[in-house]
Amino acid sequence: MKFSAKIVLLLYLSMVECKSQPSADQSYTAFTGATIIDGRGGEPIRDAVLVIRNGRIVSIGTKENVGVPAKASVVDASGKFIMPGIINAHGHVGDVQGIEGGHYSTQNIIDNLATYARYGITTVVSLGGDQSEAVPLRAVNDSSATQRARLFIAGEVITGETPAEAVAVIRKNAKMGVDWMKIRVDDNLGTSPKMTETVYRAVIKRSHELGYKIATHMYYLADAKKLLKAGSDFLAHSVRDLPVDEEFIQLIKAKNVGYCPTLTRELSTFVYGDTAAFFSDPYFLQEYDQATIEPLLDPASQKKVRGSRAAQMYEQQLPTAMANLKTLQDQGVPIVFGTDSGIPKRFMGYFEQLEMEMMAEAGLTPMQIIKSATKNAAEFMNLKDLGTLSKGHWADFLILDADPLADIRNVRKISGVYIGGEKVERKN
Ligand SMILES: [Zn+2]
Repeated sequence: MKFSAKIVLLLYLSMVECKSQPSADQSYTAFTGATIIDGRGGEPIRDAVLVIRNGRIVSIGTKENVGVPAKASVVDASGKFIMPGIINAHGHVGDVQGIEGGHYSTQNIIDNLATYARYGITTVVSLGGDQSEAVPLRAVNDSSATQRARLFIAGEVITGETPAEAVAVIRKNAKMGVDWMKIRVDDNLGTSPKMTETVYRAVIKRSHELGYKIATHMYYLADAKKLLKAGSDFLAHSVRDLPVDEEFIQLIKAKNVGYCPTLTRELSTFVYGDTAAFFSDPYFLQEYDQATIEPLLDPASQKKVRGSRAAQMYEQQLPTAMANLKTLQDQGVPIVFGTDSGIPKRFMGYFEQLEMEMMAEAGLTPMQIIKSATKNAAEFMNLKDLGTLSKGHWADFLILDADPLADIRNVRKISGVYIGGEKVERKN
C-alpha cells in the first residue's frame, strides 16, 4: 500500500472507531413490548423493556419492573423477539474474499466483520491467521462503534517441531498482544505430522505462565483427552473419530473446558461435491452472489470433491460429531458455539445460521443453541460485558420477527442487528 493511501485509510479508520464517542449524549433508548431471551437459558421475559444508553444496557426486565426513562426514545418492539447477538467463538477473519483466500488486509478484515454483523454475528473470536492489521481493529471491543462485529484474535497458529520453535511463536503472539493462543494437534487424516505431546505440553505451560488461555484444534478422541490433561482451555472442534466416552466426559467437566462443535466445517469439506442446496437459499444470496459461487458449480471441481478421500472421511464422521454434541450437551458439558468460518468456502455469517440448524438436527433445543452462542461463548472465551443481555453489558442484540425458541430457523428473520446499541445497516 502506498503511504498516502495508508494515511487515508488510517484517517478513515479513526473516524469509524471514534464514531461512537461523540454520541455520548446521555440519551436513552427503550425497546418495549418484545419477548426477550437473555442468553442465560431461563424463561424468556414477556412484554419486556430493554433500556440502553451509550451503547450499553441500563436496565432490562418486565414492564412492571423496569420503567422507561423520561425523554427516552422508544422503539415499539411488540410482537418481536430480542436475543443477544451471536458470538462465533471459532472463526477466522481477514483472509477471504468470495471463496478465495490470500486477501489479508485491514479493509478485508473490516469487510469480513461487516458481513458477519449483517447476519447477526456481533462478535468473532478469530482463532488463528491474525496479523498485525487486526490489532488496532479490536478498538471496537471497548466502544459502541457499529457496522461490524467485535473482534478477538489468536495471532499466528503455534507450530513447531521442538518446544523452542513453538515457544518462539508464543513470544511473537504475546508481543502482538493476542487474546488467545491456538495450536493444532492433528495429522489431517494421517497425511501430515502431528504436533507432539512434548511440544504441546511446553506450549500450554508457557502460554499459561504468560497468562494466556490456549485453544486447540483436535480431531481424535485420544488427543482430546491428552490435551485436556495437558491443560488445554478450549477444544475448538468436535471429537470426530469415535463416540466420546466416560473418561472424556469426566475430564472435560472437571476441567470446565468449552467444547466447540464446528459442524459446518465438516459440511464444507464435502458439500461442494454436488451443487449445495443452500446456493439457492435466499438468505445465503443476501450476501453471496452467483459470480462468487460459480467455480463451485463446475462439474469437474464437484467431481474432484466427490473423489477426495478426505471429503469422504469427513462426511462419514460427521454423524459421530453430531452424536457427540448431543451426548455432551445431555451430560452438561459447556457447548460453545463456533463454526471455523472465514476459511475459503465457509461462508461467514451464513454458516453460523447453518451451524445452529445442524446443532438442532443433532438434537439440541433452540434454547441450548442460543445459550451456546451467547452466554457460553462469552464466558468460556473470557469476553467481558458480552454474551447475555444484562445490565452493564454492551447492547449487542438481534430483533427477530419470529420466535427463535419455536424454531432456530427463525433467527433468519432478522428485523434488526444492534452492536453497541446502534443498528447495523443490512442489505434488504
Ligand atoms: Zn479454525
